[in-house]
Amino acid sequence: MAQTAQDPTAQAARIWADALALLKHNSKLTARDKGWFEGVVPEAVFGTTIVLCVENQSTQQALQNELNEPLLHALNIASGVDMFPAFKVEPKQETPKEKEPEPAPAAKKPAAGFDLDQSFDPRNAPTVADLGQDTYRPSGAAAQAIAEPIPSTPMTQGTLAETTFPSNRSQVLLDPETHLNKNATFDTFVPGDSNRFARTVALAVAEGSGRDFNPLCIYGGSGLGKTHLLNAIGNYALAKDPGLKVRYVTSEEFTNEFIEALQNTAQNGGQIAEFNRRYREVDVLLIDDVQFLGGKEATLEQFFHTFNALKQANKRIVIASDVAPKNLKGFEARLISRFEQGLPVDVKPPDLETRIAILRMMASMNNTNIPNDVLDLIAERFTENIRELEGALTRVTAVASLSNQPVTTALAEQTLQDFFTTDVEIKPTDIIGQVAKYFHLTFDDLVGRGRTKNVSVARQIAMYLSRENTGMSLVDIGEVFGGRDHTTVMHAVDTITQKMQQKQEIYNYVMELTLRLKQHSNEN
Ligand code: ADP
Ligand code: MG
Repeated sequence: MAQTAQDPTAQAARIWADALALLKHNSKLTARDKGWFEGVVPEAVFGTTIVLCVENQSTQQALQNELNEPLLHALNIASGVDMFPAFKVEPKQETPKEKEPEPAPAAKKPAAGFDLDQSFDPRNAPTVADLGQDTYRPSGAAAQAIAEPIPSTPMTQGTLAETTFPSNRSQVLLDPETHLNKNATFDTFVPGDSNRFARTVALAVAEGSGRDFNPLCIYGGSGLGKTHLLNAIGNYALAKDPGLKVRYVTSEEFTNEFIEALQNTAQNGGQIAEFNRRYREVDVLLIDDVQFLGGKEATLEQFFHTFNALKQANKRIVIASDVAPKNLKGFEARLISRFEQGLPVDVKPPDLETRIAILRMMASMNNTNIPNDVLDLIAERFTENIRELEGALTRVTAVASLSNQPVTTALAEQTLQDFFTTDVEIKPTDIIGQVAKYFHLTFDDLVGRGRTKNVSVARQIAMYLSRENTGMSLVDIGEVFGGRDHTTVMHAVDTITQKMQQKQEIYNYVMELTLRLKQHSNEN
């Protein structure tokens, strides 16, 4: 490269911006591969060397190994010469205790990716430490930056795990105290014939005028808005009276907290009392997916007492379940009759107009402009479940934005066909194998007991995909994943569903893996 008087920092920024754009449009790279490049910050160019700062050694290794070739190629095209990267590992500065919301920095976002268990091959590219002063002569701020010692101690697993899944532009939605999802409100709940009555009663309970409906039991199939309504009640009640104690809890969390309290009692006593106090002092208790308490006798006994105490104190209780209270399995008659003393209301699948209205609201909330014929197409295709309706819309918009195409019916048609063809049979073992490969893990990692963050997230994604793509029950999926409890699978499915809404990269992983699974199954 000809020597220019250009500022090394500005030159690096320009080359990297072009290289990054090329990498992002490289169809041979997966979304996950592209994720590794996201957090890279260019520092300076010296001759034919570009200094790139990465957050951790995992990123450096990925860029020096499997991604080295596309990286060199992109740098070559962007700079017009053979340009070689030198890496500088610069962990993100963080004060661990204070968790202030990040102002969504565009430039210095940590890389999305998993810790790779590969050994680093230093032949591919030099690190900054390897580059002697003879090779290039940095000056100014860049020189000072390079002269800084490279962290010599390897980062611990914990540190790597912390940077593995950065919280990105979307703020954390769950309130730490109430556990409410602040985005699920009555304002974002589209009314229709299928849910109008449930919505009206829920609003009355939230306002306090519906105290006679105690407990309110909202029931109906999966993805029809029960959890949304529970959260809407809590959010509304709190907005009206911020002094209220509101608590949203899934039956799984309730069970776990109870079991934890029981275990601790053996050591220091008083934990059950603390558990009781915590639950009995709430003004509005919102308990979700209550059907999963079925058969858990000790937890149900505890719940029965909590329920009675709250009801006697005229505190509001709202319950959601997948079946009407009288059809709950594994519940004693005395609890079912308590539930029935309140008001059971159901939510049904929405009609076409409501589905279109829901899609339109979702698109506008995401600031995406989707043509009406695409909304119609999706609404016609997904009739039974609003979560799937929402998932279809997001997949279509994600595919459009990843492939840089406009959202058209043709694109929607293709995307939905790839995702939702029902004639391919996918086996959970294929899913585990594919997910393991995708994340550079082993089959045994996913079915084993390891709990490092990268393994846990990959496992949760595999469980989610098993639930989405096979007809298997939660219990059977738990069995395949090393004999885990069905509540663990349910938790994984919920977690990934939620993360897919909050984090683009999780969406991309799930989307790409789904496509691969379908393609793979079609080939067999
Ligand atoms: P359930 O608890 O019944 O399985 P959720 O409440 O989790 O279903 O709803 C699934 C998804 O659909 C959520 O993202 C929720 O916000 C959305 N949703 C459900 N009903 C509506 C509605 N009437 N208007 C807008 N969004 C809805
Ligand atoms: Mg729910």
